[in-house]
Amino acid sequence: MREELEKLEIEALAIISKASDEDTLQSARIRFLGRKGELTLLMKGLGSLSPEERPLVGQVVNSIRERLESALEAALLAVRGEEMAKRLATEKIDVTLPGRSRTLGGKHPVTLVIEEITDIFSGLGFSVAEGPEIEHDWYNFEALNFPPEHPARDMQDTFFVEGDLLLRTHTSPVQIRTMLKRRPPLRIIAPGAVYRCDSDATHSPMFHQIEGLMLDKNVTFGDLKGILTVFTNQLFGQKTGVRLRPSFFPFTEPSAEVDIACVICGGKGCRVCKNSGWLEILGSGMVDPEVYRHVDYDPEEISGFAFGMGIERIAMLKYGISDMRLLFENDIRFLRQF
Ligand SMILES: [Zn+2]
Repeated sequence: MREELEKLEIEALAIISKASDEDTLQSARIRFLGRKGELTLLMKGLGSLSPEERPLVGQVVNSIRERLESALEAALLAVRGEEMAKRLATEKIDVTLPGRSRTLGGKHPVTLVIEEITDIFSGLGFSVAEGPEIEHDWYNFEALNFPPEHPARDMQDTFFVEGDLLLRTHTSPVQIRTMLKRRPPLRIIAPGAVYRCDSDATHSPMFHQIEGLMLDKNVTFGDLKGILTVFTNQLFGQKTGVRLRPSFFPFTEPSAEVDIACVICGGKGCRVCKNSGWLEILGSGMVDPEVYRHVDYDPEEISGFAFGMGIERIAMLKYGISDMRLLFENDIRFLRQF
């Protein structure tokens, strides 16, 4: 029996020392030390020995088991080490290389201006209203006191869709939709895209406006001036000069253009303000009683004002952009500056 054990140990150690991968070592472990392994089977033969021999042979078996186990353990560590060394040699990763960076997107200057204007009017109690960009002639023109064949329609070069559908030429139809849906007191602003058949350095066929409407009992021209002065001061700075100039819009009477002192030259006169020292930034006026007739409001009871401005123009003045087309070309070098 001792001879058999010796032979087994020699054979097992030879296999273990030659093994070059984990699988070979694992099957050697099963073959010799497993529950049905060769050493285990020899152990079972101990019963046939005499009581004197049994403990002696048992000790030998145990020491063989211990030696095989530690040989397996050592071989396993060696094999793993080699595999790791091989992988390190083939997969070269230079951890000192700079990582791949992803640049974070930013908001478009038009969005920034819409958000800032919305914030200012939210502080004055106005909420945001919306309407469709494809609009009926009635909301875009007729209800706003532009009757058919009225020359005022020529002020806005319209894209017609079909029938009485058109691309809205201003955000003013949102006034009409809001007045029909809700009753005064109303304080709304309506930001959104509008369309006109026009394209050059200061005009784009698609641009953005913000419309505003405030209606209640006893709203006066003084309220218009007060609200719009607070607004322009917050948007362009507390010391910005503001003036109102008489103007004409079909849906307001009286109407006024609001100018601010030129933000480029401070009022001295420059190319941007055409040497006048003033920049026109919005149109406004008291809602014309004719408009109330279309939405079934009583002009004896309700009064109020409306205003509207081009977002791109405000963005150009605020950020000193000279060509409106920059706002639509999506040149990343331009957009990154905001
Ligand atoms: Zn100027």
